[in-house]
Amino acid sequence: MHIFLHAFAVTSIAMSTPEPSQAKTATPATPPNPHKALVLFSGGQDSATCLAWALDRYAHVETIGFDYGQRHSVELKCRGEVLASIRAAFPVWADRLGEDHMLDLGILGQISDTAMTREQEIVFEKSGLPSTFVPGRNLMFFMFAAAIAYRRGLSVLVGGMCETDYSGYPDCRDNTLKALQVAVSLGLDAPMVVETPLMWLTKAQTWDLAHNLGGTDLVERIRTQTHTCYLGDRSTLHDWGYGCGKCPACELRASGYAEYVGGKDSVVAQ
Ligand code: ZN
Repeated sequence: MHIFLHAFAVTSIAMSTPEPSQAKTATPATPPNPHKALVLFSGGQDSATCLAWALDRYAHVETIGFDYGQRHSVELKCRGEVLASIRAAFPVWADRLGEDHMLDLGILGQISDTAMTREQEIVFEKSGLPSTFVPGRNLMFFMFAAAIAYRRGLSVLVGGMCETDYSGYPDCRDNTLKALQVAVSLGLDAPMVVETPLMWLTKAQTWDLAHNLGGTDLVERIRTQTHTCYLGDRSTLHDWGYGCGKCPACELRASGYAEYVGGKDSVVAQ
């Protein structure tokens, strides 16, 4: 533990708290779960939806992000914008939203040689996994998150992993994360619940979840402020958000948004 704390710089970003606006959609119907949660928050669509899910559910929510030498750090820049935006638009959630923790995991970039951390073409390897796969990344993220959560008195870890529309990453699988929950709880000798609210949702259903949690206001903030594109392209705002429109992440996001909008249209038509 001593070595670990010195190997990775841990900083906390104190976010400013803008004046709440008038547009409110998130009003709790029931008292929040008293447990405190830590959301793995990358600044992408999935983790932003998970953040809203946690803010709707728990009395206190903190966020954690990892800088591991991603090819493009635009996602990390989006984090602060999304957090400030949620604080400004949803006063109930702003009261629950605590510290943001940023961990420097540069060593993960050093030990992995993938299209996420190097200027390589995104291809599918013989293993069937895309070259964006960083071996063990989510396992490491959860371990570091658990270490922070333990120190902060937080007992729920929330991640946006998903088996439905995913790229086949084995560390996104439900069983992997359930096993991790057991290992972490035993290893810390403290109950640590791993929650993955998007695990069985399609990308269209993830947009639906955002809509149910925070209405069109939240959907619009996620659409325009979060980032998913593997290539870090924020030059063009498409109807599904910013991105190159061609990489696997953009294709998933675009098709999910189209299905979400199409589903809403068909409901209206009925
Ligand atoms: Zn893209």
